[in-house]
Amino acid sequence: MARLIKGLDTKLIHAGEPEPLIGGAVTMPIFQSSTYEYAGQTSYHDLRYIRLNNTPNHTVLHAKLAALENAEAALVAGSGMAAISAALFTVLGGGGHLLAQDCVYGGTHDLFVDEFPRFGLSVDFIDGDEPATWREAIRPNTKAIYVESMSNPLLQVSDLQAAVDFAAENGLISIIDNTFASPINFRPAELGFDLSIHSGTKYLNGHTDIVAGAVIGRADLVESIKHTQNHLGGSLDPHACFLLHRGMKTLAVRVRHQNESALKIARWLEQHRAVARVNYPGLESHSNHLRACELFDGFGGVLSFELEGGLEAAVGFMERVTIPISAPSLGGVETLITRPSTTSHSGMSAADRARAGIGDGLIRLSVGLESSDDLIEDFETALSG
Ligand SMILES: *Cc1c(COP(=O)(O)O)cnc(C)c1O
Repeated sequence: MARLIKGLDTKLIHAGEPEPLIGGAVTMPIFQSSTYEYAGQTSYHDLRYIRLNNTPNHTVLHAKLAALENAEAALVAGSGMAAISAALFTVLGGGGHLLAQDCVYGGTHDLFVDEFPRFGLSVDFIDGDEPATWREAIRPNTKAIYVESMSNPLLQVSDLQAAVDFAAENGLISIIDNTFASPINFRPAELGFDLSIHSGTKYLNGHTDIVAGAVIGRADLVESIKHTQNHLGGSLDPHACFLLHRGMKTLAVRVRHQNESALKIARWLEQHRAVARVNYPGLESHSNHLRACELFDGFGGVLSFELEGGLEAAVGFMERVTIPISAPSLGGVETLITRPSTTSHSGMSAADRARAGIGDGLIRLSVGLESSDDLIEDFETALSG
């Protein structure tokens, strides 16, 4: 009988796994072979070759990722940016125009602003909270709308249902970067998104030891994006496939722990007299709290905050904490702390940062799997130092 695979936790372990097991191996082996015996294929894209994204390590991941988000198909990529660029170059075609939420991930922003014009592509930024203003930005060549499930580093949640509806009404493709929510907290296909994109470097892998990406969504679009990626070359190496696959098996337990821990830390920070402001969608004080409650099963492991003492206090705090490691990136087992003005958002001008609400004293925390009591004790000592 076929194995019963329904819940997310069961899918993480069993969905897409080979039947029967290969050589009886309980864990998917690594197929470290660049090419495979020719079997009479008539299409280039069906030849079995690592760059063509069709080794056993790729296909298992594709099936598992699609199952996780209740979507039709999936594709892994050599990085989150490889996934984003392959998806957008496919969807926008020659001369296409994109509507993108303002305040997107820094690398994505730079792709739009620095690279798009060189390839005849264009973008207009829209306020994710103001769907009524989106229509005026549409042009005859607008092909897609692009949003993120939670913005970095203020954790704002755009009107995601409006983005799906707007795309349907205007014949656009709806795309969401779902990295921050992860499939545990949000599955975009269930809301009607055509494509969901992940930096697999973050929660999906979760162990801060590879760079990877994924595109999940409509089968016809994923197939076209795969052909583009076959040509652009940003495929994921089988050994990195194996690590991503291994990391994903614990995604649900990791993310649920991080949801719980981040909420506890956010609440603790919010009541502390040395803390001026905490940005976390799980807090009642967050401007998108109700929307986040409606859309998500959890609020994620990332939060940001500002101290009463401003920049100077932030620098001192970051020097005094002993558990978090000061580094960009997020979604791993270890707690990371960073000031976005010096890392993820250093490419923006100070004026643009100020307009976006990202002060120099803003601290971003990616909560790991350490004891939340230890983290809070560490923060208490660092705040009173
Ligand atoms: C990290 C990140 C990316 C880019 O992913 P890479 O794996 O670094 O290429 C894209 N979007 C978001 C939201 C990210 O956090």
